Amino acid sequence: MIAHPGSEVRVLVRSRPTANFAQELIEYLPDGQTVSVHQRKDSRKGVVNNQLSSWSFRLDGVLHDVSQEEVYGRVGRGVVLGALEGYNGTVMCFGQTGAGKTYTMTGATENYKQRGIIPRALQEVFHEVEQRSDHAFSVHLSFLEIYNETLVDLLASVRGCPGVGPGGMAVVEEAGGGVSVRGLSLHPVHSEEVALNLLFEGEMNRIIGAHALNKNSSRSHCILTVHIESRSHTLSDAKYVTSKLNLVDLAGSERLGKTGSEGQVLKEAMYINKSLSFLEQAILALADRRRDHVPFRQTKLTHALKDSLGGNCNTVLVANIYGEASQIEETLSTLRFASRMKCVQMDPVVNEH
Ligand code: ADP
Repeated sequence: MIAHPGSEVRVLVRSRPTANFAQELIEYLPDGQTVSVHQRKDSRKGVVNNQLSSWSFRLDGVLHDVSQEEVYGRVGRGVVLGALEGYNGTVMCFGQTGAGKTYTMTGATENYKQRGIIPRALQEVFHEVEQRSDHAFSVHLSFLEIYNETLVDLLASVRGCPGVGPGGMAVVEEAGGGVSVRGLSLHPVHSEEVALNLLFEGEMNRIIGAHALNKNSSRSHCILTVHIESRSHTLSDAKYVTSKLNLVDLAGSERLGKTGSEGQVLKEAMYINKSLSFLEQAILALADRRRDHVPFRQTKLTHALKDSLGGNCNTVLVANIYGEASQIEETLSTLRFASRMKCVQMDPVVNEH
């Protein structure tokens, strides 16, 4: 099941299991695609009022009470197989802190069955590379963190890493419409095991960096990119194909009022707000096919994802929600964002050279 671009961004909603799931407020319809949210009117003003306002969001799928394996099958597999064919791909998790983004992307590393989309994607990439003996593959990994509009190389500590260089890190445009991050280390990877070690090292660096700077790691965006090159061995079909598979854990989307409003917390929230708002604007502009007016360069996140949100790309968004009654405002805001994302149309192009 290869996902060929040319269709919309696929958007699925996943709810974190909780003993207090607000069934009376969040309703998954039997079509497996629609989620209805009911909210008590005036609940924010403290007025006791049992009248409900309702909203329905039709997405591409609901992941409620499903295993990590099923999530990978429905969200990740098609994008991974597409990337091996030369289509750029992006899987993104969006939602408030605590809603299950990291669980969805990385999973519980101590429990094999609970590993998330990233380790499963890496496993599938190397399984396919082994199977496809008629192609020569070359795979590299990079791991980028964006914190307060600063780019951080999460794999800079890997032995033999050349370091950032005099110009510092920056997103740069390439001929042909692609982007790359200058100064971000690219690591050749020959096996799943090596890839998982790099993932682990990057995650440790994210945590260590967060402690060192006294920052909360859920306040940064993380992009693990698998860079794939393949060359067919058959002379009659000697194509060279490249692609990028971006696996993105976005910073918590909760709004400013709830996260506090002072000092570093305020600064972080403002940067996150700005990048998520430009991500949305970029997506709306893509949906309207106003590609010339897409504000990619406004934030590091949208700029780094420029070639992953439009054009030659499969994009899947998982909207993670924390379905407790106290979180209903955030759930609504996540689902509104998710339904706007669903409008983006993609143009299919394979990266042939
Ligand atoms: P986020 O990255 O959105 O801040 P996390 O992924 O860290 O949220 O999830 C918060 C907590 O909930 C973690 O302890 C995680 O293991 C747990 N959790 C989230 N989603 C699930 C799920 N689908 N099944 C089991 N536990 C989950």
